[in-house]
Amino acid sequence: MRHIANPPNPFDKYSAEYIGEPPPTKLEVFEEIATKKMITKAFASDWEGGWRFTVNCYRGCVHGCTYCFARRYHEFLGYGAGTDFETKIVVKPNAPQVLREELKKTKQKMPHVDFSFATDPYLPLEASYELTRKCLIVCADFGVPVGVITKSPLVTRDIDVLKKLNVSVFFSLPFLTKEKSNPFEPYTPVPEARFRAMETIANAGIPVGIGVAPVIPGYNESDIPKLLERAKNAGATRAFMSMLHLDSDSIEQYFVAKMHEKLSPTAVTKITNAMKRERGGQLQHRTFKERSTGKTEQWEVTRKLFDFHAKRLGFRQHESPAEQEPPPAQPAQQSLF
Ligand code: SF4
Repeated sequence: MRHIANPPNPFDKYSAEYIGEPPPTKLEVFEEIATKKMITKAFASDWEGGWRFTVNCYRGCVHGCTYCFARRYHEFLGYGAGTDFETKIVVKPNAPQVLREELKKTKQKMPHVDFSFATDPYLPLEASYELTRKCLIVCADFGVPVGVITKSPLVTRDIDVLKKLNVSVFFSLPFLTKEKSNPFEPYTPVPEARFRAMETIANAGIPVGIGVAPVIPGYNESDIPKLLERAKNAGATRAFMSMLHLDSDSIEQYFVAKMHEKLSPTAVTKITNAMKRERGGQLQHRTFKERSTGKTEQWEVTRKLFDFHAKRLGFRQHESPAEQEPPPAQPAQQSLF
């Protein structure tokens, strides 16, 4: 049983501390009825034109990856970046209608939209809400190219829609086995299920890739060659990797606490020491540019390991689609119109 555990929200004046054991968590679903915007515009240094557009039909994610950078965005809503992020899920039921209206109004054709960043677009609630599916249909109607990044086989449900789109589907798959994944990805579909879904998508003729992200120094570098091989055998043609980045104090706090719960003290020390070497003595990066990369020779070796095997297997290498400047702390986004 999980108990409520949230680092103090830096945007809140007060935070709760429990005397004794905190209460158990429970899944809560909130429907946001006044959604006004679905497309978020964010700076992305790696992206052509420097801007990336994203669509998220949900906020929060039950998959609960301990390293997830979207935890921070939950704090903007007044929730915690810990168990709140995994159990208080905000749903936008009118997402497809709002997206359609936005696309009607854009002055120029939308160059590309990514489904991801504040959540997994295929978290289990999507099975009944079908909001990602309906938004993909809207993108198909407007001829907007789409990127999907997910850890869920549920994406295979939408093959019929994906076939109508100029799309690439990436599976985030940084660990080879369930045992290795579990300490960091406690509630995600297991790696085997992701590889099977990857194969189904590839067999349907849809471009599919693997995101070896995050690479956690001292933990999963040795998985890289086999991950790429498995992805290749499953029909993937694209690949990217990026280093673990802990985007805020809250995320760092939660990530470290969960490591202590799930891993041996030796393993925790190995990871934290390796991270600190890459980050100049701390766990968080100092600048956005350093966010997804390391600075030691060891990281160079990891980079070359990835490059070598990606080239050997004929992958088209991508910059990580997950690299974008976090949205501003204020909910207001820049206008597209
Ligand atoms: S699946 Fe993606 S969005 Fe969900 S918790 Fe994991 S990293 Fe975050």
